[in-house]
Amino acid sequence: MKILERRSCQTQRLDLTITLCDCLQNEHSADQYTTVYSGSKKIMAEWNIETKCVQSGYRPKNGEPREVPIYQSTTFKYDTSADMAKLFDLEAAGYFYTRLQNPTNDYVAAKIAAMEGGTAGMLTSSGQAANFFAIFNIANAGDHIVSSASIYGGTFNLFNVTMRKMGIEFTFVSPDCTEEELEAAFQPNTKAVFGESIANPALTVFDFEKFANAAHRHGVPLIVDNTFPTPVNCRPIEFGADIVTHSTTKYMDGHGSCVGGAIVDSGKFDWLAHAERFPGLTTPDDSYHGIVYAEKFGLEGAFITKATSQLMRDFGSIQSPQDAYVLNIGLESLHVRMKQHCANGLALAEFLSKSDKVESVAYPGLPGDKYYDIAKKYMPNGTCGVVSFCVKGGRAAAEKFMHELKIFAIETHVADARSCCLHPASSTHRQLTEEELIACGVPGNLIRMSCGLEGTDDLIADVANALAAI
Ligand SMILES: *Cc1c(COP(=O)(O)O)cnc(C)c1O
Repeated sequence: MKILERRSCQTQRLDLTITLCDCLQNEHSADQYTTVYSGSKKIMAEWNIETKCVQSGYRPKNGEPREVPIYQSTTFKYDTSADMAKLFDLEAAGYFYTRLQNPTNDYVAAKIAAMEGGTAGMLTSSGQAANFFAIFNIANAGDHIVSSASIYGGTFNLFNVTMRKMGIEFTFVSPDCTEEELEAAFQPNTKAVFGESIANPALTVFDFEKFANAAHRHGVPLIVDNTFPTPVNCRPIEFGADIVTHSTTKYMDGHGSCVGGAIVDSGKFDWLAHAERFPGLTTPDDSYHGIVYAEKFGLEGAFITKATSQLMRDFGSIQSPQDAYVLNIGLESLHVRMKQHCANGLALAEFLSKSDKVESVAYPGLPGDKYYDIAKKYMPNGTCGVVSFCVKGGRAAAEKFMHELKIFAIETHVADARSCCLHPASSTHRQLTEEELIACGVPGNLIRMSCGLEGTDDLIADVANALAAI
């Protein structure tokens, strides 16, 4: 199999994880980089994000398929059991069982790692699995995490209920907290800091530098869920994030076709410099004959190799190769699609902010929004296509408005090609009382709109008609 040959010519490092940018850069340096002239000096520049969306990851050699092949196989064949034994000892490069790894997934993970500017990446079966793995890879029972309180509801539940049951404690801080408040959240057993670049659904923007500085002062990594802006609009590693996660279900797939997730490692966090805090990466793993991940796979490969060889092995939250293939098609147009999502989002936010039927609008790309300045700093080219607003007239007006929409469909989803909307108070948050709804930032008159790829004027007309009917 070609890919096995390709992998075995890499160094010993990253053998299990392959994915890698690392390997892509070694092998395809001529392809990955464009030549740029500055004065008379020739300098090498990295591909820009548009080119990475299309070209990174799978780079076929002479006579190989142009499209990423779907390796629809649970298992892989070897000539001798000695060959296979090397794989099980993490001593050689290769695939043996798709519960841990599959070549199709690895090509697509390598593309996402390149887009984020990381050194290694992996796909997971969902965004939930990605965030769970990212934390559980470095935190055990008795450990503690500092998290922004402004995060996706599913992630909040994972942390606050399920992972608490596993013995991991969380302290939630406001994304707008002062440095002193953030400092006070740390404990001697804190293992990571977590936040979302643009929070779903609150649309708060994460102050990367504030959180990265605090994390690094305490010798722990910053983990950022970058689902909403995607690496097209924001690359958290450039602002100090160490690990980046994604729900690829949203804009990356972009067509509402496949649930999936991804984890990318920046390769920058020095586990060995904080060895006592991260024993899982810096002391021998008995299940692989005592290898030490941070030593054997280096800073660039340790985190993803451990997550693959322990967590994927034990939990099996693998993305299907079919879905990885579909995800890759989505990634090829992500940079083109994000422009239209953002243009529609901004136009809708501007329209709503001028309507006398509307009480308030939240959109970080809208001048005057509480997060406008910080969004301009970290994502100057655009934010996302999701806009939320509160309609005048309370819950009844919100329900009437939704009923009148013709293009925006009522769905528990965001971030795909077709515009959709949700009234949290009567769906995702319907168990909450009016007081609880206000406390968690989703009052009864709040509507979340996800702008798709349709024509801007048609979307505005749809919303204008529905508002007029209230
Ligand atoms: C949807 C979402 C998730 C969860 O992802 P799934 O793919 O649905 O498991 C996590 N984080 C954010 C920001 C999301 O929007």
